[in-house]
Amino acid sequence: MNVILLGYPGSGKGTLAKDLVKEMSLVHVSTGDILRDEMARKTPLGLEAASYMTSGRLVPDRLVMDMIKARLGAETRGLLFDGFPRTVEQAESLDSWFESRKQSIDAVVFLKVAEDIVVQRLGSRRTCTGCGKIYNVISNAPAKENVCDACGKPLMTREDDKPGVIARRIQVYKDQTEPLLAYYRAAGNFHEADGGQAPAAVTAKVLALLKK
Ligand code: ADP
Ligand code: ZN
Repeated sequence: MNVILLGYPGSGKGTLAKDLVKEMSLVHVSTGDILRDEMARKTPLGLEAASYMTSGRLVPDRLVMDMIKARLGAETRGLLFDGFPRTVEQAESLDSWFESRKQSIDAVVFLKVAEDIVVQRLGSRRTCTGCGKIYNVISNAPAKENVCDACGKPLMTREDDKPGVIARRIQVYKDQTEPLLAYYRAAGNFHEADGGQAPAAVTAKVLALLKK
């Protein structure tokens, strides 16, 4: 089964994806995580992507598509896309990539959350530098301040979760990613879930949708 998660930055795609891959045997494909890993390792792709990412803009489609194809060419398990596609052009490329593999997209899940809520969430999000676990200093703080419950490593604020960059990411989402809702609605297999609830409730709801 191949699934795409859509929604604002901060809508909870990453948190949901980590839950879903545990419940269903899918591979979590987070283009944001992959790009941050390329950046940390200072690969040519990471160096090229860095200025786009830290300023809240999208990394060019060509770079992202080449990265996806290189990483997933040999993968035979079901894929769970989180943060990809982000433009209609990426969606079209993904469609033809799946077609060439004689596969298709089985479900698209849109996590619906109000804009003021995502702005609030992004501003209070912290990410573990060790295992990537996501926290929120207001609603989901670790037991010990700034330390990951799961692996004991320090938490950090992502460069693009800093105040000035958040507004830019929201605008980029509206301009470039929101048109994907119409694209996938027209294609069928489109589901909507209320992303304003607590993480466990969102996961239960989406699992039920996918098992239908
Ligand atoms: P969020 O969904 O919270 O914005 P991500 O980790 O998915 O966070 O993405 C962070 C940044 O990585 C984006 O702002 C963008 O610069 C880059 N990025 C991630 N996925 C893509 C993509 N599919 N196309 C272009 N850029 C991307
Ligand atoms: Zn951790």
